[in-house]
Amino acid sequence: MQWQGRRESDNVDDRRGISGGGLAVGGGVIGIIFILAKFLLGNGDINDLQQLVPQQQQQEMTVEQKAADDKEASFVRVVLADTEDVWTKIFNDMGRTYTKPTLVLFRDATTSGCGNASSSSGPFYCPVDQEVYIDLSFAKQLRDQFGASGDFAMAYVVAHEVGHHVQDLLGVTKKMQQIQQQVSETEYNKYSVRLELQADFYAGVWAHYDQKMKNVIDPNDINEALTAANAIGDDRLQQEYQGTVTPDSFTHGTSAQRMYWFRKGYETGDLSQGNTFAAGSY
Ligand SMILES: [Zn+2]
Repeated sequence: MQWQGRRESDNVDDRRGISGGGLAVGGGVIGIIFILAKFLLGNGDINDLQQLVPQQQQQEMTVEQKAADDKEASFVRVVLADTEDVWTKIFNDMGRTYTKPTLVLFRDATTSGCGNASSSSGPFYCPVDQEVYIDLSFAKQLRDQFGASGDFAMAYVVAHEVGHHVQDLLGVTKKMQQIQQQVSETEYNKYSVRLELQADFYAGVWAHYDQKMKNVIDPNDINEALTAANAIGDDRLQQEYQGTVTPDSFTHGTSAQRMYWFRKGYETGDLSQGNTFAAGSY
């Protein structure tokens, strides 16, 4: 993906330097005293104070690691900016307004409107605060653990989470919450799979329009996205971690399903074809 030098989104809450007790990056003790003083003088806000709460201890990064991490953060900001442009256009065309989500970058652990988040929760979208949460170490995990290399694997992840935000704006999330209260867990898992596959479809739709509007995606990028979708399908993950596959507990869809819906979104760019809930849909 051609991304360097392009617009980076401002809708990013970068907490990476904060989760390690607030001392790892940025000013150390003096910085904290300054923020505290600012807060006591009434110029700060509650976020400043919350960010001081020490969380999980983190390893200090080397200069090279930090540079790589910052590069990844820039990439994510560019992708987020592209999702803003694409979804603003799509919503405008529907006569609606797209409300941009905030993306929280964190390291190790942070708090969200949906509870505490850690690297092990993986990237997620919280409908309560309408924010996307990503620990950038997931990019490394995608590469090393799941064999999904290339920058576009991470673009797919961001676009998938933003896809959940789109579902929220379109009322799908709310419907799902109602269903969750009415059916058994096994039954709900089936709906959850459909929800996830639709987020994959929306990620594909985003890629379709991003290419159309900006001409920044090459065919290899799509392969990288498909490799990532393949790598993080429930069946692959279960096989890897449990040694067996239990379809009842699938909550994201199989590798084949995830690839199918991403590709369908990318090829059609047509929102109306994304009803993953329809009877008989793959
Ligand atoms: Zn998801």
